[in-house]
Amino acid sequence: MVRGINTRCLHLADEEKNTEHYGSLSFPIYQTATYAHPEVGRSTGFDYSRLQNPTREHLEKIICGLEDGIDAFALSTGMAAITLLFELFQPGDHIISEADLYGGSIRLFDNVSKKNGYEFSFVDCSSADLEKEIRPNTKAIYIETPTNPMMRVSDIGRIAKIAMAHGLLLIVDNTFLSPYFQNPLKLGADVVIHSGTKFLGGHNDTLAGFIVTKDPKISERLRFLIKTTGAGLSPFDSWLLIRGIKTLGIRMERAQENAIKIANWLKEQPAVKKVYYPGLSEHPGYEIMKKQARGFGSMITFDVETKEQALAILKNVRIIKFAESLGGTETLITYPTTQTHADVKEEVRLRNGITPCTLRLSTGIEDAEDLIADLESAFAGV
Ligand SMILES: *Cc1c(COP(=O)(O)O)cnc(C)c1O
Repeated sequence: MVRGINTRCLHLADEEKNTEHYGSLSFPIYQTATYAHPEVGRSTGFDYSRLQNPTREHLEKIICGLEDGIDAFALSTGMAAITLLFELFQPGDHIISEADLYGGSIRLFDNVSKKNGYEFSFVDCSSADLEKEIRPNTKAIYIETPTNPMMRVSDIGRIAKIAMAHGLLLIVDNTFLSPYFQNPLKLGADVVIHSGTKFLGGHNDTLAGFIVTKDPKISERLRFLIKTTGAGLSPFDSWLLIRGIKTLGIRMERAQENAIKIANWLKEQPAVKKVYYPGLSEHPGYEIMKKQARGFGSMITFDVETKEQALAILKNVRIIKFAESLGGTETLITYPTTQTHADVKEEVRLRNGITPCTLRLSTGIEDAEDLIADLESAFAGV
């Protein structure tokens, strides 16, 4: 029997019966760079922490179980994970990418991947005819759903069928929903990416990234690449992630409850022009979300009427912090134009719908009444 997701956040399927690590419930931090060998040709299975570390391995097994993969990799940041993954491609390869992505991913593709000889087509994967975008050298489709920050929702199963029919890899950045709400590998994706900095770590206190795959060839190649390039997560940060994931389920549920209340409150505000939250039944991705995910998450993007109103709200919030990042215990509000998406060309931002009136909110686990009161006083001045 497959155990429930909350149990899998706390226990591994092959967990030993209190015989290892003195029965310690908290997994030990193996703060070591290297491992002594008994003799030539024999080893404990661990050689050097760039290659393997027991604390990182324990975390990778947890993530692998949560995403239903065959292998998982813990990297120092989400961007390190995406960078490592893109080492799978060769100069001349073409990748079809969602146009509305986390700004750092667009920065990587535009400034590093293109220099390495990769070609990109950026399209709205929620509605585009993707078959028309496929070229002889196309190797992969790269999506986020919902997207950061405009919350566009793509049908993972539909895109997986296209990818499979043409022998393309389907890569899904699942950061916004976490494995608690969505499992792209089960819907046909080949590779899942996470910024572990966000919901998985969950406390706004550390950076991490993950790659999970169900393809043995990709797994083998990535093991070689992680050993070679060296962006594996440190033992202490691995421990913070193991600890953060213990409460993933209750944090996600609570943050989502707050998001639904706040999205409905925002809808009633005269200063708010549009609310992008896939848990609202009028959102174009609502039905797809209900089909492919177990929840709607806690990310809300909204447009106010003027840039001045947006700036005033950022200045006036108190409990809600004006900060980059998302998915943590504390509620954060971001201004994509000058923060997360500052390095994205203005014309691209505007085409995706990111304007100087756009704000992005990540609800935390505070009391909804206090968050709404904070927003009420921030909006009072606009
Ligand atoms: C934050 C984020 C990343 C990058 O992760 P880091 O841990 O900050 O490097 C990638 N994708 C999405 C969707 C993100 O929100």
